[in-house]
Amino acid sequence: MTAIRVRFAPSPTGYLHVGGARTALFNWLLARKTGGTFILRIEDTDVERSTKESVDAILQGMEWLGLDWDEGPYYQSDNFNLYKEYVQKMLDAGTAYRCCCTAEELNRKRDLAMQEGRKPKYDGTCRERIDQPDAPYVVRFRAPQGGEVAFDDLIKGRIAFPAEELDDLIIQRTDGTPTYNFCVVIDDAVMRITTVIRGDDHVNNTPRQIQLYQALGFAVPQFAHVPMILGSDKARLSKRHGATSVIAYRDMGYLPEALMNYLVRLGWSHGDDEIFSREEMVRLFDIGNVGRSASVFNPDKLNWLNAHYIKTGDPERLADLLLPHLSSRNVSTLSGPALMDVVKSLQERAQTLEEMADRAVFYYNAPVSYDEAALTKFDKAHLATMYAVVAERLLSSGAANAADFDQLFKDICTENSWKMPQVGQPLRIALSGGTQAPGIGEIIHVLGVEEAVRRINATREFVAA
Ligand code: GLU
Repeated sequence: MTAIRVRFAPSPTGYLHVGGARTALFNWLLARKTGGTFILRIEDTDVERSTKESVDAILQGMEWLGLDWDEGPYYQSDNFNLYKEYVQKMLDAGTAYRCCCTAEELNRKRDLAMQEGRKPKYDGTCRERIDQPDAPYVVRFRAPQGGEVAFDDLIKGRIAFPAEELDDLIIQRTDGTPTYNFCVVIDDAVMRITTVIRGDDHVNNTPRQIQLYQALGFAVPQFAHVPMILGSDKARLSKRHGATSVIAYRDMGYLPEALMNYLVRLGWSHGDDEIFSREEMVRLFDIGNVGRSASVFNPDKLNWLNAHYIKTGDPERLADLLLPHLSSRNVSTLSGPALMDVVKSLQERAQTLEEMADRAVFYYNAPVSYDEAALTKFDKAHLATMYAVVAERLLSSGAANAADFDQLFKDICTENSWKMPQVGQPLRIALSGGTQAPGIGEIIHVLGVEEAVRRINATREFVAA
């Protein structure tokens, strides 16, 4: 069996879209599973719309997801000579011809066809002409007529188009530049691509491309057209449904493994399993198990997966990933508790790193204000006494971990006939400014007794003032 060679071929006209990332992922998985080759090809022949920024954004998105490629990035703009060479070969072989029909003529014929209820199609005026007038021309493919063009799509099954419907495609424009379908065929053939996995918005290009392969004497690759991703309203996923850029998900605090896991499940399944490590995905992936219908993007499920990977993630790595989210909140971790301990105390609860960063701020920046609505629920005299007792006991107890501290508070409650909420809630406010925070014992363990007592005393003074 020939080794699998696949490619991801984005057009650099924007960021890496989650749909593109999923196409890249399916290609990557097939290559990794079979020990094949994954190629990255930048389709930048549309010079007007292609930008360096987009190329960088696409590469950045792929790198962040860990979709490493084995060859490339190749740039179609480097291949113009190659395309020209093949246009010439086709002209020489008679599988392509010069067409001098002017835009006006073509428009007129198209309008007429529409009026007469016929499908507009190039009428072949220049197909058989022997003279070659000295006039601007495009090069057209002499598309085989009659019969049908069919292929067995690895996802969608057999797809057939009557050759009748396929135009004599322009392969080179008047200005000498090659057209999209032509470049794709030449590249896929020259790069010896065995399996073309791409979005199903390209299904209509495939029969034309197959005819070109055949005319050029190239082996036709296999095709797998991946259904679209839709928003909750069943319209194609776009910005109005929320973020669609891979890097936006990074910035919103998603982990690459969560997004990868989410994307692989979007259209592909393996029994009822939901959680897949990279290794499992590679081992279990089968392009034949990708569903035929479009999938709906579900942010709740992505959040659930992200929470799972945060909960089970390595705290040291999460700490590194959390840093930029803290910097953007003007939090410096140079002093204060070890970030890894902070991460451990928040891992259970955060759905995203953004959420974790929000909750981590108080560990480094002592509260400058308090949730007064919550604080005024307690009697002032009680607060003054309780804060003083707790501060004193914290300093003298020798407690050293979260469980010790929690036990200490239970003892304090028993000794003073206080109920736990009378101690826990005001302490939480003293330590974090608000009422949403991890367990008190946990906070003090991470903050350290000294800092905890400093904050408790500050709150006692604030209440007394
Ligand atoms: N450049 C095309 C796109 O970004 C992909 C073409 C292909 O995969 O054949 O939609």
